[in-house]
Amino acid sequence: MSELAVNDWVKQVIKTDEIDKYLIDGKDFIDEEVIKNELSVHRNPDKQQVRDIIAKSLRIERLEPWETATLLNVEEPDIWEEMYAAGLAVKRKVYDNRIVFFAPLYCSNLCVNNCAYCGFRYENKDEKRRILSMDEVRQETEAVISEGHKRMIVVYGEHPRSDADYIARTIETIYGVRKKARRGFGDIRRVNINAAPMSIADLKKLWNVGIGTYQVFQETYHKPTYAGLHPANTIKGNYRWRLYALHRAMEAGIDDLAIGALFGLYNWRFEVMGLLYHAIDLERQFGIGPHTISFPRMTPASGSFVSTHSKYLVNDEDFKKLVTVLRLSVPYTGLIITARERPELRRAVIRVGCTQTDASTKIGIGGYTAALKKLSYLEQSDQEIDKQQFTLGDTRHLDDVVRELAEMGMITSFCTAGYRCGRTGDKIMGLLKSCTEGKFCKLNAVLTFREYLDDYASPETKAIGENLIDQELAQIREIPFFRQGTLLETFEKMYQDTLKGKRDVYI
Ligand code: SAM
Ligand code: SF4
Repeated sequence: MSELAVNDWVKQVIKTDEIDKYLIDGKDFIDEEVIKNELSVHRNPDKQQVRDIIAKSLRIERLEPWETATLLNVEEPDIWEEMYAAGLAVKRKVYDNRIVFFAPLYCSNLCVNNCAYCGFRYENKDEKRRILSMDEVRQETEAVISEGHKRMIVVYGEHPRSDADYIARTIETIYGVRKKARRGFGDIRRVNINAAPMSIADLKKLWNVGIGTYQVFQETYHKPTYAGLHPANTIKGNYRWRLYALHRAMEAGIDDLAIGALFGLYNWRFEVMGLLYHAIDLERQFGIGPHTISFPRMTPASGSFVSTHSKYLVNDEDFKKLVTVLRLSVPYTGLIITARERPELRRAVIRVGCTQTDASTKIGIGGYTAALKKLSYLEQSDQEIDKQQFTLGDTRHLDDVVRELAEMGMITSFCTAGYRCGRTGDKIMGLLKSCTEGKFCKLNAVLTFREYLDDYASPETKAIGENLIDQELAQIREIPFFRQGTLLETFEKMYQDTLKGKRDVYI
């Protein structure tokens, strides 16, 4: 593709009217002064006030910005301990002991933007550029399925070659792959994407091919920092085009949305407030907040000075605090912790309320297929800085992480039923807020965990997993909610069918 054609494409991406329509009196929902003021006036909070706010979270009610600002200002270690415990209690109330797994799939590192922290930025000449063909997407998907995954998040740089039509083709291709497993078969039942902001017309194309969740991270909500990291002459330089990406998705019919901030670019307390304001504005304009929130910490990227030298890099202790405050601020929203983080920190934040994570992750383009073929250069380190966007803190296999969680009493769920039973958008939000979704998911988690144990688990994981399933079955049989009508009977039949090799049965 010629440089001229690429430049012409870039010029037509942003539709100003698809920003302006969401503004109020010409203003967006991030007011830097208001956020700074909230963080400043709620310093040194009173213990009782903090406990009242925690009690509100435990009632599964979203916090107001002043309440979140109050939590962010807590200093006393004993109050933080109470907040960590409350984070886990909230998680258990809404999501029980389940952890949902997904696998990222990087389809292309071609990019027209120049984000200072990212290995894919166009000025990074060390990056080996590549975009997967549909055959390659199929091969990568097969490799991911072979690990036991059922859910993917597909990631793309922003480029005319990876435009909405390409993305739509990749989604269709992934849904079309089915691979024989030990007992049953494997497939990807939910394709989520992380891609650049698009127009409503382009988003409708993704909706038509069955996109799951649409994820866009604002990176930083702090406008001067945003401007410094994203050159103004690039698409990504337009803060508001990005800020309203998910509002446009709602209009296109995609009601499962994921927000996030890249922690390390600016003050972490400010970013937590930004995420909360984002959730509130989606709720205000569409009646539904985000389905998940991500809080990736910036990790070293090839040739990126800021990724290693930013003065805002977040240490482990603050990271745990920010996850806890998010858990308490939006109690019914999923929280995603990724393999960017080291195993011990992953364990720590799962304990304060994360609900989703990834494993067996490869973020090099074509990385899964290469690892499967055990290419010599991958055998050495498993990570290739010049083909991937950043570095991973945890390269363990899905089986190892599933086993570790089972040892912690947490059941891995590969459930994708909610979406396929119409439990999405405002319906799933209502169910989550009333803690009903967790009940359906408990059943589906057992069914999909059964599939995993029989199709993919190692003997060690299977042994530990069987104990966990027995405990879950015993609990399910005692819970009054399941004993209503024929729910328990239906579930028992589905469980028996799954044991016999039937796949993808869900309630
Ligand atoms: N190009 C699209 C965009 O920017 O929205 C989507 C793909 S981009 C590869 C996905 C996300 O990776 C970005 O939104 C950013 O938050 C994250 N990211 C970029 N550089 C990173 C780094 N050095 N460490 C951790 N995450 C990074
Ligand atoms: Fe491109 Fe996204 Fe990386 Fe920015 S973060 S350089 S837009 S891939």
